[in-house]
Amino acid sequence: MVRRTKIVATIGPASEDETTLTEMVRSGMDVARLGLAHGTLDEAIERFRRIRKVSKAERRAVGIMVDLPGPKVRAASFGDDFVEFRSGTTVALTVGNTSSTNSVIEVDYEGLLTDMQIGDILDVGDSRVVLTVTDNSGDKLTACVTHGGVLSGNPGVHIPADRLRMSTPTESDFRALDAFVDLGVDMAAISFVRSAHDIRRVGTEPHPKGPLLVAKIETRAAVENLAGVIETAGAIMVARGDLGTECSIQELPHLQKVIIQKCIAGGRPVITATQMLESMVTRPTPTRAEASDVANAVFDGSSALMLSGETAVGSHPATVVATMDRIASRADEEFDFDLWAERLAELRMTDSATINASSITDAMTMAAWRAADGLDLSAILAISGTGFTVRSMARFRPRARIIGLSHDERVVNQLSLSWGTTPVQVPDKGSNEEMVQQALRVARDEGYVRSGETVAVLAGTDSQSRSSNVLRLETIT
Ligand code: PEP
Repeated sequence: MVRRTKIVATIGPASEDETTLTEMVRSGMDVARLGLAHGTLDEAIERFRRIRKVSKAERRAVGIMVDLPGPKVRAASFGDDFVEFRSGTTVALTVGNTSSTNSVIEVDYEGLLTDMQIGDILDVGDSRVVLTVTDNSGDKLTACVTHGGVLSGNPGVHIPADRLRMSTPTESDFRALDAFVDLGVDMAAISFVRSAHDIRRVGTEPHPKGPLLVAKIETRAAVENLAGVIETAGAIMVARGDLGTECSIQELPHLQKVIIQKCIAGGRPVITATQMLESMVTRPTPTRAEASDVANAVFDGSSALMLSGETAVGSHPATVVATMDRIASRADEEFDFDLWAERLAELRMTDSATINASSITDAMTMAAWRAADGLDLSAILAISGTGFTVRSMARFRPRARIIGLSHDERVVNQLSLSWGTTPVQVPDKGSNEEMVQQALRVARDEGYVRSGETVAVLAGTDSQSRSSNVLRLETIT
């Protein structure tokens, strides 16, 4: 079975060269994520160009997502070697961005000394080291190391969201976004979103003319305002690193499930992120717990799984992608397809009493799912101008492979994030009949379907509306 759950891999110093990028594409990377928290904007732009070059050479639609760091607070560099913090020792924290040691940590947040209070907990490097503030002398904070560990590079310092007085996106996010929109980036992830308002502030053209906006759920406020955030965003990321610090750790697995369910119901791709194969930053094989985490994220219904440090700074970027590909492919075979379609009937968001583009697509994709399931069809061909029909189809998590066809290159790249979807670019639109015939031909010629197979085809006859109003069952010639 072709893998249904997609793989997002973060590109960093360990994976930015063309050889490694090519290996990662061949190992199964569907979307490349460019983090902006480390390195310069020019370096990120250079990586963007290299990914485009490799994906063209490999003839694979690889989506590119730029991840805007938002008000992410970081410690100044500890250098490349690991620096140890022992539990029970004391450390000073000052405002700065030059360098950090295990006795003084410089933090790049101006409000550190005014916003933090005695007793506040500072989580450094996704909980590798946890500090409790014990004193504030006005020019530095003193903190006790409550949980010791090792740090290297520029780890994130989690300031509780209700203490942080910066809004997202930041001015520097907007500058980076402008540069990437000019380059034609496919997706942009917004960090520390608190409500739909933060997404609206981005102000780019709605996708597909602009990038698909991915809201990172990593604050308690975003969880509380989830319905509005999902409605406004193009896709969602369960950013478990910061979310696991904002909310109690025992809540995290349940939040992951609830967020994924609501995203599927809303027809939004959803990425499960962070520490999925963390031990592979240094080791060639994952822990047993990590393998289970990856498989369980597939069973939860994730559209995509994300690798962060594992591919950005790890020792074996392509091996990590290949490992995730194997675990996710095997989990896909055990996925409970029937359960999802049943659940969707309860979770569906559109109001069936109102007939509009959404309710028409809702009904047509449901009909396509029923036909594919009832007749055991191998593929559903969804022809889409904006990707909307394809994403709506993916909500049903059908057993049949979804072939998402569009003439728009950016839509095709954006569909690389959608569950179960093979994105395919087709030449510019002709009549409805020509589009259908072209889709059937391309799917056969590219080897996605074989002569003699019957497939479902979803298309729209109304060029003004984004809805699909035609469902056909066709036998491939
Ligand atoms: C996270 O917090 O889980 C996350 C994905 O965000 P970042 O990598 O920017 O910390």
